[in-house]
Amino acid sequence: MSEMKDVGGFSQGFSRRSFLKAGAAAGAVTTPAFAAVEVLAPAAPPRDIDLLIAGCDVVTFDDKNTVIMDGAIAVKGNAIVWIGKASDAAGMFSAKETLKASGQIAMPGMTDTHYHTAQQFLRGVHRTTHRKGPSWKKILIPFESGLDEHDVYNSGMVGYTSMISAGTTCFLEAGGPHPDQMGKAADEVGIRGRISLNTCDLDGDGGPLPKSHIMTTSQALKENEALVKRWQGNSRVKAWLSLRQILVNTEELRISMSKLAEELDTAIHTHLSEGTYEVDYTMENYNMRPPEYFESIGIFNKRMHCAHSIFLTLDDVDCYAKHDASVAHCAFGNYNGGPQRMLDMVRAKIRVGLGTDGPNSRGSLDLFQVSHYAVLGQQIGYGTAWHAPAQLTYSDMLRHACRGGANAAHLGDKTGSLEVGKLADVVLVGHDDYDQFTSMDPTLTLAQNCVGHHVRSTIVDGKVVMKEREFLTVDIEKMRADVKQRYPRMIDRYEKAILLTSG
Ligand SMILES: [Zn+2]
Repeated sequence: MSEMKDVGGFSQGFSRRSFLKAGAAAGAVTTPAFAAVEVLAPAAPPRDIDLLIAGCDVVTFDDKNTVIMDGAIAVKGNAIVWIGKASDAAGMFSAKETLKASGQIAMPGMTDTHYHTAQQFLRGVHRTTHRKGPSWKKILIPFESGLDEHDVYNSGMVGYTSMISAGTTCFLEAGGPHPDQMGKAADEVGIRGRISLNTCDLDGDGGPLPKSHIMTTSQALKENEALVKRWQGNSRVKAWLSLRQILVNTEELRISMSKLAEELDTAIHTHLSEGTYEVDYTMENYNMRPPEYFESIGIFNKRMHCAHSIFLTLDDVDCYAKHDASVAHCAFGNYNGGPQRMLDMVRAKIRVGLGTDGPNSRGSLDLFQVSHYAVLGQQIGYGTAWHAPAQLTYSDMLRHACRGGANAAHLGDKTGSLEVGKLADVVLVGHDDYDQFTSMDPTLTLAQNCVGHHVRSTIVDGKVVMKEREFLTVDIEKMRADVKQRYPRMIDRYEKAILLTSG
């Protein structure tokens, strides 16, 4: 596996006037240094290309945060082969397809680093009851346990189209039932993803898990291994291993899963330090905090992807950094738990991306909005009390949604920025809506004045998946009709399942 570290930040004192001056003079500018770049590409790219995206301002999020006004991106196969000025591209290429994108901004696709496919249809139905015990055990797992294969396939179709429509081109599944159906849906929609299987081999505290959600330790290992192997041949959709949560996994499974990750050269998606109960649990059982405990049994390493990571001491942050474990910062739900150490993580060069935690968290799969929440959360945690400005700006945070997410997904050398040689995961965003006028600085416009519905077109792996908000890969009306027809039975099963866990 390969990955890149990224902590690139934007200056606090970014000036729109100086940006426009530099942009007009050079055509391509970088922030904050405003160094002029004429062309980002090799001198002799291929003439025959598959796709030319032309006329848009290009926000690359490369190492220099280069921005090209009135730019163009040339794509051959699934890779970016040239980026430069639209006026130069006009005579250089013979393209099979051209996307005219003037009046739009091109940016890298974002990665949702923590998503629950199987909770898609909890959108809008989440009970806000005050039930004893963690909600994931009392509500989320019972809901998942009532889903059949077709429900999970439909969940994927609805969830992944929702992501594509909001500029997310890659997702990391947290682990749910029927993962092959997630993969099938991801393949059809055209999104990049890492699916995984819900993996519990222990009932834990707070009552038994539904029978369909618990396996023996050896069965858990076998099924995880088989899943990863089944998807190894797919270049866009692959499978990761999963450990659902400390309370519902045995130590034997944790250690064996870590060895399996090494053997299969893959990663493990888990929830870590999400609830105070987890800290209490590891303190009571091992006299250690969760990351310290993972370290003590030799499973804390670059293959461990840790969703939430809320309840951390500064020593815990150091532990993550020491072992290069990655983090999904899920701002919609995280701040219900407590203050977050995202800034400390960024400074410690931890691979931290943004995640939605699925639609159960707030109903939205829009990472633009997650990044806005995260900026405010970090401001409260690190700025306001000391009469200081935001320590992570809106531009910093959007960059983390792109590059931080790619790094957490072990795709940092392939996605997360628009650069020659990287995969063509490109999002085109409009900036002339009522709530955006005036917008002169493309980076600030993306970071502060855009949300998911401003996305016009999305390209994944060089293929146009959504064009001017029309899906080219999915019959949306047919998909919605099938969901509507099956929905009442699915909710009925959920009602019955939560009755069983009441009390
Ligand atoms: Zn989760």
